[in-house]
Amino acid sequence: MSLFEMKNITKNFDGQEVLKGISLTVDQGEVLGIIGPSGSGKSTLLRIATGLEKADGGTIEKNGSVGLVFQNFNLFPHYSVMKNIVDAPIKVQKRKKDEVYEQARKLLAQMGLSDREDAYPFQLSGGQQQRVSIARALAMNPDILFFDEPTSALDPELTGEILKVIQELASEHITMVIVTHEMAFAKAISDRILFMDQGVVAVQGSPEEVFSSQNARMREFLGKFH
Ligand code: ADP
Ligand code: MG
Repeated sequence: MSLFEMKNITKNFDGQEVLKGISLTVDQGEVLGIIGPSGSGKSTLLRIATGLEKADGGTIEKNGSVGLVFQNFNLFPHYSVMKNIVDAPIKVQKRKKDEVYEQARKLLAQMGLSDREDAYPFQLSGGQQQRVSIARALAMNPDILFFDEPTSALDPELTGEILKVIQELASEHITMVIVTHEMAFAKAISDRILFMDQGVVAVQGSPEEVFSSQNARMREFLGKFH
């Protein structure tokens, strides 16, 4: 079953066509990887998919709720770790406090942050902040979790801990769409991969198909990682 489907999505900024008719589907339990050069429209696509931005054209069909993990964490700086996680489930989803706190504690334990629930974001490393923001997204019980380059704001030594967390979520069969610059990770974790270039999906298929594609822009893009 398709949890999420976008057809022919277009988006302009100041007359520049940033998305030129993007179509994609996400099935239950699958991990979709999205790769592509900077400026190709990946973040715009995720912002539209998660409702933060409106498309100019095309259709979106969602069979469930979506969550987004940002590149720069986007935690509320004046809220504790715990408050960052429980605020929206209580205020937006109107769920019972006890139940939300219990879930938040489980998520913090899963993220290895049980001892940091009273800390503020500035007291945490980038990797810890990103783990809190993943816990915050999961606390909304999304049917699909979107990640926008979740490790690109992190020092290389902190990247691995986030990739490991995402790998664990994949093994729990959480449906995910992951924009990433970590090519080995994209190849290992994704069931399917889209290569975006200049506002279109230039190549798509299994990791093997995409990474061996002879598409010229794809070869040029992969060349930058060697
Ligand atoms: P990527 O995430 O692949 O690097 P983005 O989706 O961030 O690409 O950006 C695609 C293009 O859209 C870029 O040229 C960028 O400058 C432009 N863009 C993105 N967001 C805005 C915005 N809010 N206003 C104007 N231009 C934007
Ligand atoms: Mg981006």
